[in-house]
Amino acid sequence: MTSDIYLNVAKTLSHSRANGPGVRAVIWVQGCTIGCAGCYNAFTHPHEKRTLVTPDTIAEWVLGLEGIEGVSFSGGEPFEQAKAVRETIVAIREKNPNLTFFSYSGFDVEGLQHSKDEEVAGLLDELDMVSAGPYVHSKRQTDLLWRGSTNQKLHYLTRAYKEEQELEWKLTSPVEEFQFDGEIIHFTGFEGNGSKVLKAVKANAMVFGV
Ligand code: SF4
Repeated sequence: MTSDIYLNVAKTLSHSRANGPGVRAVIWVQGCTIGCAGCYNAFTHPHEKRTLVTPDTIAEWVLGLEGIEGVSFSGGEPFEQAKAVRETIVAIREKNPNLTFFSYSGFDVEGLQHSKDEEVAGLLDELDMVSAGPYVHSKRQTDLLWRGSTNQKLHYLTRAYKEEQELEWKLTSPVEEFQFDGEIIHFTGFEGNGSKVLKAVKANAMVFGV
């Protein structure tokens, strides 16, 4: 598939267990206008150019990864780039129909389902699962599976996964995760400022003066 559309990507991680079922590639898109107070992905909020990639290019990256069960889209707000995210999924599925697709969204699923934007509906049709709803700091809970506050919900959009698997995922998916790629430490997870990893990194930064 050729496309004249680009996905604006904030960062990627090739293998994560903290962002959906199993081991997944994660694509954080750049740009979110929702503005949840207390969001700790603030660097992804401006809709400004980060890394622009075509759906085919990012699909090629995903298809070259070994040992992943699927792809998760985070942000930023994936549904504010619905067309590019949908085309990315379509390009991956064309070559590997076995991969699954998970997305976070700061919009409630009902709002997405009733959106007048056909690209939003098109993206929902391609996803197997979403973690949906804005982050509400007063409803923050640190032991939730793939969400940070109790108003946010997991939705099963296809038969790829089911709610009964949540117990197993809670045992196998870490609430926080970090990886060193040789240059920088990638942190991902849901404990935000309470994160033991972030505390340790900050403590080491003070000790080593970095
Ligand atoms: S929707 Fe997500 S990225 Fe956007 S402000 Fe809320 S928590 Fe942050």
